[in-house]
Amino acid sequence: MLDALEVLNPATEEVIATVPAAGPADVDAAVARAARAQTAWAALTPADRARLLRRFAAEVDAHVEELAALEVRQAGHTIGNARWEAGNVRDLLEYAAGGVERLMGRQIPVPGGIDVTFLEPLGVVGVIAPWNFPMPIAAWGTAPALAAGNAVILKPAETTPLTALRLAELALEAGLPEHLFQVLPGRGPVAGNALVEHPGVAKIVFTGSTRVGKQIMAKGADTLKRVTLELGGKSPNIVFADADLEKAAATAPLSFLDNAGQDCCARTRILVERTAYDRFMELLEPAVLAVAVGDPADPATAVGPLISAVQRDRVREYVATAAPAVPAVIRGTAPEGKGFWYPPTVLAPADPGERIAVEEVFGPVAVVLPFEDEADALRLANATPYGLSGSIWTRDVGRALRLARGTAAGNLSVNSHSSVRYWTPFGGFKQSGLGRELGPDALAAFTETKNVFISTEE
Ligand code: NAD
Repeated sequence: MLDALEVLNPATEEVIATVPAAGPADVDAAVARAARAQTAWAALTPADRARLLRRFAAEVDAHVEELAALEVRQAGHTIGNARWEAGNVRDLLEYAAGGVERLMGRQIPVPGGIDVTFLEPLGVVGVIAPWNFPMPIAAWGTAPALAAGNAVILKPAETTPLTALRLAELALEAGLPEHLFQVLPGRGPVAGNALVEHPGVAKIVFTGSTRVGKQIMAKGADTLKRVTLELGGKSPNIVFADADLEKAAATAPLSFLDNAGQDCCARTRILVERTAYDRFMELLEPAVLAVAVGDPADPATAVGPLISAVQRDRVREYVATAAPAVPAVIRGTAPEGKGFWYPPTVLAPADPGERIAVEEVFGPVAVVLPFEDEADALRLANATPYGLSGSIWTRDVGRALRLARGTAAGNLSVNSHSSVRYWTPFGGFKQSGLGRELGPDALAAFTETKNVFISTEE
């Protein structure tokens, strides 16, 4: 019997689609088709490749509402977030299209001739995406890879293949060559693994858990696969007593509750200077309780359901295991009944080494920990194996910079929680990842540098 993936609406538990799951033979065939398409694509003029990518962007733009509605249904994202996510795909394609004609090598002074470098495409790139931001994360890998002259095979997560499949249709409608951008829904250990092991795939861009990222790096070693890994996080939100406490408390809830906390950059470790701790908690409680959790299709909703029963049970287990040693100090509400709901929850562990304070829960759960001084804040900020994001709240600019430089993480924000913009680099330190996506160097990550010396001697 052929394997198939059931796609559920996480707000209602209804089955909304059944999608065939690709196996190793499908991956083989897709790689062969992609390799042929890539050769033709790389031979087009840069202007033509850029024009086609801009058309793809325009096609996505014309379908933002449709894509957003589909994401609300398959992933439970709030409609406001889902519109932003579809728009992000469009913006990434436009930004990458702008890079095609600017992807330049260098000319290096040498005796007896000239020396030039070329940035050659890698060939076929595999993009393995998670379910938490199905559209943006697929595009972070796909758009620059295509712009740099590669073909892409995208394997979406088991639970969220529908928007990826629709994007592949839109690419064809925009005039992108057939088989240049293919979407292969399938299971990670089957289709994902086949991509990782395939000698015809030059690079894997993987976003997902640190556990699977390590496996991919190890498996990919056999074919010396290039890898970009965007993995988990447990990011600090460091609040000093001299900060604008009202603003810090007002913004803290969505910094860990957005997307129901299923965000690799979620600020789930709220570190507060002890002298401001009581005041901050007084402000934080009503701010958390005011966050509207409910129907993701309602524009007034701030937080929807978790992606699946598995994920909800995982979150429940983390919180249940922590109690009673670590009771919840703030607990919001969530709908009852059908759907994978979990209420916003803040815990105050006495021991900063508690499992819930250092492991990624990937749900609407944060811990709050007091610190004594700047050195203590930095020590706590760096006391996890992760290093993806972080926020620093203070009015002292020197301190903000010391903390930003001292925190071992790839994406920091001061007096804000923003960390992802398509035109600035993004990626993790330590066990949060390897390599960078987005930003001005995004295309270069999908090339090999070739050096050519040309003799000018007679
Ligand atoms: P996951 O690791 O379970 O799965 C991610 C993808 O990998 C899916 O497509 C899955 O099918 C595939 N996969 C699973 N096993 C595989 C294998 N053996 N070989 C090849 N592919 C395999 O992660 P998830 O639960 O879907 O996503 C949540 C995780 O993603 C969290 O840890 C989160 O922090 C992380 N994440 C990181 C970033 C970032 O940019 N750093 C962004 C979003 C999510």
